[in-house]
Amino acid sequence: SQIMSRGLPKQKPIEGVKQVIVVASGKGGVGKSTTAVNLALALAANELSKAVGLLDVDVYGPSIPKMMNLKGNPELSQSNLMRPLLNYGIACMSMGFLVEETAPLVWRGLMVMSAIEKLLRQVDWGQLDYLVVDMPPGTGDVQLSVSQNIPISGAVIVSTPQDIALMDAHRGAEMFRKVHVPVLGLVQNMSVFQCPKCKHKTHIFGADGARRLARTLDLDILGDIPLHLNIREASDTGQPIVFSQPESDERSREEEWSHRC
Ligand code: ADP
Repeated sequence: SQIMSRGLPKQKPIEGVKQVIVVASGKGGVGKSTTAVNLALALAANELSKAVGLLDVDVYGPSIPKMMNLKGNPELSQSNLMRPLLNYGIACMSMGFLVEETAPLVWRGLMVMSAIEKLLRQVDWGQLDYLVVDMPPGTGDVQLSVSQNIPISGAVIVSTPQDIALMDAHRGAEMFRKVHVPVLGLVQNMSVFQCPKCKHKTHIFGADGARRLARTLDLDILGDIPLHLNIREASDTGQPIVFSQPESDERSREEEWSHRC
């Protein structure tokens, strides 16, 4: 169904962009960027064929360049706007394209805000059905500033089933409600690990914490993703899991996994 934007008076849409979906998390390392990348790819894939952009505003730890196998400096358009870099049919923009990979990200206060302003206002996206925004973890100035500057159609919140992650995710959901951004639902990540040798399932971070939080907040669970080697490898090699072929990888590992635990 059509997601409606509910803009506050102060907000200004990004030119050419129909809907903005932010992907957020309370805690770092829970799979927020992985979710953002694969959500963007799924929206652009054949079945939906949407025009999709991916904006990485995780200014302290941008991971989109690596996950999307992109590097380099954006060219400027005639009107002095930065042109996104393209891979897998997704237009991408990240702080990671603007600073050296090894440069310390000592962005502080106003520096971060001017970086955010650049990323929000000085990119030539062309025409997009969806812009997926990879937010920094937590509920700080950047999250608030993004939410107040552009109309956001909805937020997807990613969490592991671990209490500490859930507490922060809860805080995140509350923040979006306060700034009138509809929370589309929760994604529970890393909930179960199945041993490839003996098929035993272990709930490393707990079994269904995000499901419980979803019930508490009256939100939907949008996805439940296991902890899986292929997902990590796909991210690290810049070939997101939506594109890779886990079945063939699994076959090539049969030898390695042939001894039972
Ligand atoms: P965040 O954006 O929340 O900091 P990332 O998406 O960067 O988290 O994920 C952190 C690390 O965990 C990455 O190396 C990623 O490949 C890995 N990862 C994320 N989700 C999974 C999963 N379901 N299974 C295995 N590895 C995962």
